[in-house]
Amino acid sequence: MRWDQLGRDDATAALFGTDAVTRRFDTPEFRGITFHEVRARSILNRVPGASRMPFEWTVNPYRGCSHACVYCFARKTHSYLDLDTGHDFDTQIVVKTNAAELLRRELAAPRWQGEHIAMGTNVDCYQRAEGRYQLMPGILAALRDRANPFSILTKGSLILRDLELVRQAARVTEVSVALSVGFLDGELWRSVEPGTPSPQTRLAVCRTFSENGIPSSVLMAPVLPFLSDSPEQLRETVRAIAAAGAGSITPLVLHLRPGAREWYMAWLARNHPHLVRRYEALYGAGSYAPTWYQRRITRQVHEFAAEFGCGPARRSGFRQDPGKDRGPGRAQEPGQEQGRERQPPAAAPASRPTAEPGDTQLTLL
Ligand code: SF4
Repeated sequence: MRWDQLGRDDATAALFGTDAVTRRFDTPEFRGITFHEVRARSILNRVPGASRMPFEWTVNPYRGCSHACVYCFARKTHSYLDLDTGHDFDTQIVVKTNAAELLRRELAAPRWQGEHIAMGTNVDCYQRAEGRYQLMPGILAALRDRANPFSILTKGSLILRDLELVRQAARVTEVSVALSVGFLDGELWRSVEPGTPSPQTRLAVCRTFSENGIPSSVLMAPVLPFLSDSPEQLRETVRAIAAAGAGSITPLVLHLRPGAREWYMAWLARNHPHLVRRYEALYGAGSYAPTWYQRRITRQVHEFAAEFGCGPARRSGFRQDPGKDRGPGRAQEPGQEQGRERQPPAAAPASRPTAEPGDTQLTLL
């Protein structure tokens, strides 16, 4: 692979610090993408307002996402880097090259409480850049070695590369994997999620994990009003998810927060101009579809899930062979089961995260 080191020019240094290096790779999958390699100061991020979330800590080795979903909630986070939330979010990717070594160090800090860590809640940790930088194997190995519970949410089939590491971790702690699949329509997929593996490929990942003893769930997100929300479309999608062996399905209707809203509405105007007025009526000036609409989608998806024998959404993770092969890390403690609401640690970890703005934003892709 040929790459060009563009160097540490003034703009790069101003944005990412004097250690940052900017590169481009001259291969089809990375054409047009600029990578900013940075050395992060911390990697464990505490989620603001975590009491509403089933987890309190996240790890995000990347910022920006070449999966380029038009509706991506994380777009806003690029504005904190003085980059735009549209094309720059898709093509200017920040890579925290020291993510694994930092995590290993922060997990070993005496005051770290061994809490659940969620990954893929901001941008996708198995986006294409991961094929080149391979940060996740080191991150998974660090979590496995400390027996630290974690979850991964992704649209990336690249996660299959790390199946064995996930299995090893699942022998010593609670691990859960979720795929994000909002619809099956191929034309809609190419238009609105142009950098992602196809929905069918993602479902194949779900099946492979299940067949290897690691139950996976599906976040059916986002359901796109007037584009993927007919009863027939919902039923077909749920049927395929159930057939892929998903343990549970959680539907989520499109959010249009600032940063994503402008980009999505521009796409809608280009591709489905007749729907612009209907979206404006449904969302008004806000970020969310009305409650009645969200309830309708949730009810229908749950009814179809019941029809196809797919279990209700569970927040809890799982552990294989509990108590067996426990790694050198701290033993699981009562109350640390994934998904259970937790109290904050009595004391902050020694390596108190100093997350950069936007790092802790949750997008639930
Ligand atoms: S929705 Fe997820 S996969 Fe799509 S661009 Fe955003 S972070 Fe990437």
